[in-house]
Amino acid sequence: MQKRFIWIILFLWIHVLLIGQDNNKLCIHNLTDNFYVYTTYKDINGTMFPSNSMYLVTDAGVVLFDTPWDTTQFQPLLDSIWFRHQANVVLAIATHYHDDRTAGLEFFKQRGVKTFSSKLTYDLCEKFNEKQAAYYFENDTVFEVGNYKFETYYAGEGHTKDNIVIWFGSHKILYGGCLIKSTESKNLGNIADANLQEWKPTIKKVLRKYPRPKYVIPGHFGWESNKGLQHTLKLLESASQ
Ligand SMILES: [Zn+2]
Repeated sequence: MQKRFIWIILFLWIHVLLIGQDNNKLCIHNLTDNFYVYTTYKDINGTMFPSNSMYLVTDAGVVLFDTPWDTTQFQPLLDSIWFRHQANVVLAIATHYHDDRTAGLEFFKQRGVKTFSSKLTYDLCEKFNEKQAAYYFENDTVFEVGNYKFETYYAGEGHTKDNIVIWFGSHKILYGGCLIKSTESKNLGNIADANLQEWKPTIKKVLRKYPRPKYVIPGHFGWESNKGLQHTLKLLESASQ
């Protein structure tokens, strides 16, 4: 009897292990300290296109910066976070209204997560029928969650009207979302809703405000280099020629 019980426990444990494991649909990388970049993918014309988001593990729970793009990965993300950190997600902030940032807002809201975006993003989600946060902030806002502090910054239009960045001053991490292109990107990507004139001055404002980031996390592709801002300027220059 006892033996069978041990087998059941073992089976459950392996099951949890498998669910908690990152699969090729959800990749989680520790950036530094308690900061993680997670990536989900979407099939764009036969190619799996990656989308980066972040999460931060604080002693008052986990904060998500943007939600998975792949709508099958909302629960796996919560499971993976629980498995790795034995912590619940308490807060989620979306950095612009496109679905690679907002797709999971409704899901997380239903799981008791406090969901936030800027007022501009909140309104654009409504207008374009994207999932919407429950709460919004009207100005750049400093959030304090447990032992961490970070700020949102809106520098102007670029990839979209409403794109904001998030700055983690203690670790010099600039989470750029889709305003910032990866140094691996050969073009500006989806510019259907972009403001190509304003994008450059917007990036320059971000550079002035955060001149020496240690890490720069773009919305898509690799973040090995911290020169994403400069690379975005270069791409904008060649696009305007
Ligand atoms: Zn994007």
